[in-house]
Amino acid sequence: MSTTNYSDQTKAVHAGLEHGPELSIVPPIYQTSTFRFHSADHGARLFSGEEQGYIYTRLGNPTIEGLEKAVSVLENGYKSMACASGMAAIHTVLATFLNAGDHVVCSESVYGPTTTLLNTFFKRFNIEVSFVDSSNLELIKTALKPATKMIYIETPGNPTLAISDLTAIAGIARQVGALMVVDNTFSSPILQKPLDFGADVVLHSLTKFINGHADVVGGIVVARTEEHYLQMRKVLNLTGGVIDPFNAFLVHRGIKTLAIRMKTHCENARKIAAFLEDHPAIQSVSYPGLPSHPQHELAARQMKDFGGMISFEVKGGLEAGKVVMDNVHLCQLAVSLGGVESLIQHPASMTHAGMKKELRVQAGISDGLVRLSVGIEDADEIIADLDLALNKTGR
Ligand SMILES: *Cc1c(COP(=O)(O)O)cnc(C)c1O
Repeated sequence: MSTTNYSDQTKAVHAGLEHGPELSIVPPIYQTSTFRFHSADHGARLFSGEEQGYIYTRLGNPTIEGLEKAVSVLENGYKSMACASGMAAIHTVLATFLNAGDHVVCSESVYGPTTTLLNTFFKRFNIEVSFVDSSNLELIKTALKPATKMIYIETPGNPTLAISDLTAIAGIARQVGALMVVDNTFSSPILQKPLDFGADVVLHSLTKFINGHADVVGGIVVARTEEHYLQMRKVLNLTGGVIDPFNAFLVHRGIKTLAIRMKTHCENARKIAAFLEDHPAIQSVSYPGLPSHPQHELAARQMKDFGGMISFEVKGGLEAGKVVMDNVHLCQLAVSLGGVESLIQHPASMTHAGMKKELRVQAGISDGLVRLSVGIEDADEIIADLDLALNKTGR
């Protein structure tokens, strides 16, 4: 059905679901690697592109296409490509648009493996990167070079939750002829639609909020134009990092509740952030929904709500951070985020332990920083769990 004039909450339930000849409410899962041709001529027409149809699942599959359509609809994009993971999505974008000698300006507060991918793999191909605090437009402008081909933004940034101005950065990118890419994983299209602010390409780790149930690894890239879509599709078809049909089905099922899940993630996070800000064991709290957040007003302008991610610093540094990790019961001690269950982790001893301390601290990741992905459990029960663990730090 066409969902064009509906709200996101309704679109999330229906977008990309074609009922097929049997009119089943949930479409069948095309768990197949390949598709039969009616005749030699039919096969030839599909291969030449004269006729549209399915050939082989790496190149296209109805179940995967259903998921792609749903995300394109929610992001207001042209078309999208579902990938085997968020990293496969990021690789697809970088490998499509960057050539030897190109320069990239990238948010410094960005998913750890994205930094490593740029600094190691793409460096081998003579691609240079400047990491900057992208919440400061002057720093982006200063980092630009004649060879700048791409501005890569994560907002809210991971794990500091710094907010970058999408409209202003899109303007800068347009001025210098660079492509603007946004990793929108932390917001999901329900809270923020970067293409509407002028970004060229949006990507997600489907593993997080979009699937929302911590049972699939996947990624997706959404293009604003047909030209960009065709360029990236060609690369993905050849490099092969596509999602599997069953995982695509699971993610598409997850999307049906995305809007209502995001609503609860945001409501819970708002309450928990306020509780944390008043707690004596806490040094500081970073949540875009708090008036104390340095870019609170910008977040209010470009996001529909402030999301489910909170970072906070406990007094007492590394040791106190570990005490909190070891004393929560309802919040699960695990990396990843965006699922229905609350997850807590300690970047200095976990996700960002591999980073040099001075670089880590410069990127806003202090020893006592804790990252919380607020789930959809009862907010008061999450608060009680955190309160007990924080009180164990002896502050
Ligand atoms: C998890 C994550 C990724 C990578 O996704 P995978 O599915 O783990 O490959 C990229 N960006 C952000 C912001 C993430 O949180």
